[in-house]
Amino acid sequence: MGNKVVKFGGSSLADAEQFRKVANIIKSDNKRRYVVPSAPGKRFPDDIKITDMLYKCCELAGSGVDFSEEFEIIRNRYNEIIANLGLDMDLEEDFDRIVRELKARPARDYSASRGEYLNGKVLAKYLGFNFVDASEVIIFDTKGTLLLDETLKAVRSKLKNLENAVIPGFYGRTTEGVIKTFSRGGSDVTGSIIANAVRADIYENWTDVSGFLVADPRIVENPDVINVITYRELRELAYMGASVLHEDAIFPVRSAGIPINIRNTNRPEDDGTMIVSDDYDFSKESLKHTITGIAGRKGFSTINIEKAMMNSETGFGMKVLKVLYDNGLSFEHMPSGIDTMSITVDSAKLEPVREKVLSGIRREVKPDNIEIEDGIALLAIVGRRMKNTRGTVARIFASMAHARINVKMIDQGSSELNVIIGVSESDLAEAIRRIYDMFINSEKQ
Ligand code: ASP
Repeated sequence: MGNKVVKFGGSSLADAEQFRKVANIIKSDNKRRYVVPSAPGKRFPDDIKITDMLYKCCELAGSGVDFSEEFEIIRNRYNEIIANLGLDMDLEEDFDRIVRELKARPARDYSASRGEYLNGKVLAKYLGFNFVDASEVIIFDTKGTLLLDETLKAVRSKLKNLENAVIPGFYGRTTEGVIKTFSRGGSDVTGSIIANAVRADIYENWTDVSGFLVADPRIVENPDVINVITYRELRELAYMGASVLHEDAIFPVRSAGIPINIRNTNRPEDDGTMIVSDDYDFSKESLKHTITGIAGRKGFSTINIEKAMMNSETGFGMKVLKVLYDNGLSFEHMPSGIDTMSITVDSAKLEPVREKVLSGIRREVKPDNIEIEDGIALLAIVGRRMKNTRGTVARIFASMAHARINVKMIDQGSSELNVIIGVSESDLAEAIRRIYDMFINSEKQ
């Protein structure tokens, strides 16, 4: 029998009703043997996540302030879940230990990790599964870097003889035994590691959306769900701000060739999004648009440099980039013409070194003109099929021209996996809508 690793996010485990949905999902497929839960998340938009409340308790404890009122809310949330599920268990000993520990040694990671720890215990009891404390198997070095090989070994030896297990997400311990968490949203990473360790058939990541959307739903009304996306495409879109999954959750499964399936706990009948390697059998895919997704990000600046005969001046680009390097500034794109070069950088990173960069470039290459334009947005149009489709860039330009949007920059990656265009920040939303119309709506007709 194969196995599936299933991770459930905070909103999937926010109350007893959500726990029931989760149990139904797990019990409907006996391959779903290893379960990674987050801490209870928001039940409604203004609700507060357990993780945030635990950070708050730690902060208060650290300043020597009484946190019993805040902790009571946490206690009540778990007790409510336990009571509503009719479970014969209590977490009183754990609650007391956490309070004692926070008073003695208020450590942020320890405090936050207890959300997953407690939720894991409740879920294991409800499912009748084994509980494996993540601190036994997820191992960090003393600086807080994950020790992947040690971790995989520990997970394998622990799960080897277990038919099933609930392993809380988000935390582990250092080689010195100190509790350590991943960054926020890190239960995704735990799930990915467990999937690698048990050589899962698939890593299912259950959340509250039916997968990755082609475009941001705050910009495009009711956008399509992406059925299948490759890891490489996902990286391009995630870099431009599209997020559903923790960035570090990709590597452990990708390196083991395990696909990720993003699913919706509230709509288990939806297929969700499959995240796969380039060698996947794409014939199974139902929707086949030229592009896979669109994402955009504001907050860029371009440094425009002009100099007559620039292209015959050996080392011109190198000298300019050396100035950026000396100022610790990385660049996003660098399209150039015969006498011009423009470099797109993150505005927030440019700000503190702006004058030094300007004077450095003036000194090094003596340009005829140099200026910085702020307020640029970058938009990534991503799709593995663009490579074999003619006219994609023409269609992008046509849609921008119809909308009277000025394209300030264009860059097509050498892999032909994406086209990046730069527009004014004020044009970004409209640009995304137009491209969606051009490539998704019109291809449906
Ligand atoms: N509970 C943690 C957070 O809120 C980790 C997670 O949910 O993945 O960030």
